[in-house]
Amino acid sequence: MIALPTCLIPVALPMPATLGAVNVYLVRGPNGAALVDTGMDDASSRTALVAALAAYGLSLGDLGAVVCTHYHPDHCGLGATFVDAGAEVMMSAVDTASLAAFFDDPASDSRRSTFFGRHRVPAEFEERVTAMFPFFRSLQEPFRPTRTIADGEIVNLAGITFEVLHTPGHTRGHVCLLEPESGVLLTGDHVTPGEATHVSMREEAIGADPLGAFLESLERVRALGPRVGLSGHGEPIPDTAIRADEILRHHAARIARVAASLEPLPVGAYDLCLKVFGERRKALARWLAMSQTLAYLEHLVAEGRAIEVAIEHGLAYRSRG
Ligand SMILES: [Zn+2]
Repeated sequence: MIALPTCLIPVALPMPATLGAVNVYLVRGPNGAALVDTGMDDASSRTALVAALAAYGLSLGDLGAVVCTHYHPDHCGLGATFVDAGAEVMMSAVDTASLAAFFDDPASDSRRSTFFGRHRVPAEFEERVTAMFPFFRSLQEPFRPTRTIADGEIVNLAGITFEVLHTPGHTRGHVCLLEPESGVLLTGDHVTPGEATHVSMREEAIGADPLGAFLESLERVRALGPRVGLSGHGEPIPDTAIRADEILRHHAARIARVAASLEPLPVGAYDLCLKVFGERRKALARWLAMSQTLAYLEHLVAEGRAIEVAIEHGLAYRSRG
């Protein structure tokens, strides 16, 4: 068992369908209580959160502050509930903008499915993926955070100070929170104990190499070497530097596989995705594989190891040789 500071209490909340569970963290300090991440806007998740708070004599309205590590629904799904209850709800400026775009521009769903109209995907893939986004939107209350937070900022949660680390990659505005006293890092989805962190290609990240940003911010966490990592998913991470290193090596191996799949003649990203990840039955798994493949390709292009080629109705990739 890893000893956690008594001020930080992990609360595992269920997610619908087969999405598993998300951890949120209750912070109890001299000035009351706060929360890091919220869980989804889903009845069973809300019930579990209310019950967990009640065990400490707290209700949703007692939390003075809420930090959302990033804008995904499992991390800020109940944002409006807490804003309405009078809490200070914090998120990075970049993810605040991404969250707004997710709600304000539902037409972007079909753009996300065809990967911004730049990549040829089968019609059946496009249809199934486009149908997926309204479901995710239903798990998220629309809201505007009341405060934006940035790298290096100190936030006070219930009388305990945390340092904000901007850790882009999983999302462009993802943040981790360091509690310097105990050496605990709240890692959100930046460092996870199970599957290696997912890095998507997003429309706003075109030309920005999100995987490169992720690897850099993961190096930063490795160098920082927090004693314990508390992740958005799974058990506490006993040595965050070692786990960061494993994730770095996982992505390095995948990047090498994508690079090895390139040919002198242009190949579409969808075909490269099938070569590297294989067929995936579920729409979400296929979309994640494709967006990750694009993140690898964008990284290889940024490093000068792949060439992006315009073909009819989109883009393809070829090796340098
Ligand atoms: Zn996430």
